[in-house]
Amino acid sequence: MLQWVLDALVPIHCVGCGCYNSWLCPDCLAAQWHPGCAHLPADIAPTIGQLLFLGEYHAPLLQRAITTMKYQSISQLATIFGLALRRWFDLESYDYIVPVPLHRRRLRERGFNQSAVMAAACNRPIIPALQRTYYTKPQASLRRHERLTNVQTAFTQTLTMSRSLAGATILLVDDVCTTGSTLQQCAAVLQNNQPKRIDAAVIAIDLLQPNNYRIE
Ligand SMILES: [Zn+2]
Repeated sequence: MLQWVLDALVPIHCVGCGCYNSWLCPDCLAAQWHPGCAHLPADIAPTIGQLLFLGEYHAPLLQRAITTMKYQSISQLATIFGLALRRWFDLESYDYIVPVPLHRRRLRERGFNQSAVMAAACNRPIIPALQRTYYTKPQASLRRHERLTNVQTAFTQTLTMSRSLAGATILLVDDVCTTGSTLQQCAAVLQNNQPKRIDAAVIAIDLLQPNNYRIE
């Protein structure tokens, strides 16, 4: 019912060209994707292997789509991004997907966790192994050194955590990666379970911070 009211108030339209019926139409999608694989520097993210990404954070349309998803609470965009991850990358090799959690206060504000919705579209088993125990300021509003400290100790393992993560290949899913500190904080917690490998997948990485990435 609520979704019906929202659809009536804000008709589904492409954030790129404005055409109706999709939040991101196939033509605009095709123009935005530059999928690839990067590595974060070992001093920032020592426990993360590959970083899969769909595009560049400063690409105007991609940024608008991400902003619309998060701040206008359009969960369908998260599904579109999750399906794109599934289309571009071989996710079959991952035993589990772990979405980066939101703090419950942020979850209440937004109504959904975009990383969890993306993960659900990836068609792999999901383990909500992490919880965010501190309410952190939105990363986008902070400077780089503030971002690095903003998420420190923000994550802990959930009680439902399964022992099956031992020896497993894990894909962490988040919306964007700027410094890599959020992903690393999550990976550091998961590492306690001695998984075989931890990779990460995001919609967009910030290529204006070239020191942060090594692109394959
Ligand atoms: Zn379009």
